[in-house]
Amino acid sequence: DHVANQIAAGEVVQRPASVIKELLENSIDAGATNIKVLVKEAGKTLIQVTDNGKGMSLTDARLSFERHATSKINSADDLFSLKTKGFRGEALASIAAIAHVELKTRRDEDEIGTCIKIEGSEVVSQEACVTPEGTTFCVKNLFYNIPARRNFLKSDSVELRHIIDEFQRVSLAHPSIQFSLFHNGSELFQLPETNFRQRIVNIFGGKTNEKLVPVEEDTDIVKVHGFVGKPEFAKKSRGEQFFFVNDRFIKSPYLNHAVVAAFEGLLKDKAYPSYFLYLEVDPKSIDINIHPTKTEIKFDDEHSLYTILRSAIKHSLGQFNV
Ligand code: ADP
Ligand code: MG
Repeated sequence: DHVANQIAAGEVVQRPASVIKELLENSIDAGATNIKVLVKEAGKTLIQVTDNGKGMSLTDARLSFERHATSKINSADDLFSLKTKGFRGEALASIAAIAHVELKTRRDEDEIGTCIKIEGSEVVSQEACVTPEGTTFCVKNLFYNIPARRNFLKSDSVELRHIIDEFQRVSLAHPSIQFSLFHNGSELFQLPETNFRQRIVNIFGGKTNEKLVPVEEDTDIVKVHGFVGKPEFAKKSRGEQFFFVNDRFIKSPYLNHAVVAAFEGLLKDKAYPSYFLYLEVDPKSIDINIHPTKTEIKFDDEHSLYTILRSAIKHSLGQFNV
């Protein structure tokens, strides 16, 4: 079973940033309004995520590390009506298989919390502890028992870049949640609760505000809101390109093409438009289960989405005279 855990772990956890993504999603699923992320050495030695969410009972805390014990999928129907981000019940089991993990958690209704330590899927201690309402996961020495994976990790600056990317994706999708990120003791982001526009500005800097053109469209197939960057601010690299579908960051070369098509004639050669586009679709019309890291999804009616998106952006660019 330990071997099964380690193999499955490799699917879910590729690098420190994957751990951050899973922990952030769990905190959001737990209803947190404040989430703090602390990393050391680009997450290679320490990743700590603290939330003020609903916490766990002693039993749930123990169960949270059991593979599939908490899977929210009870039937095929459930898969298509997911309100939460987690649904396979394997992230924590995977992380616990390949790191030293410490969990501290307390529910509002409990006077005393629970602290559990796990190393390589083995519970090494479990005790009652004093801890604020909510949950802290501390993940140390990632891949300590898989040297090949540990050696495969890139330099701290590259791994930190991946962490920042995940952090930005999640925090852009949830502006009503307060987020912070610290690396080796210094604060990289401190994001207060706000709206979509201001969250983008808080992440990418004050000058971003004047660059944003709002996009809005409401059809039976999709609701779109968000922003595109004015063409004169297009980048030489694909930095600021974000699609969110039902609050999840996704990658979609096809929809990216729709955006680029809307900019036709407006961009210089080799310039990439910035965009922050939030799509809401009927969960039944997408399949988010085609990749374990869940950044790629399949739409039933891709072609209509393409057309709607392109014309909504064209309309916005025209309206704002750009
Ligand atoms: P999944 O998110 O797919 O259910 P995970 O392995 O990520 O599986 O988490 C297992 C379970 O542990 C969750 O379903 C949830 O019940 C609980 N859990 C994990 N993180 C938190 C948290 N930060 N706050 C409260 N409960 C949590
Ligand atoms: Mg999860």
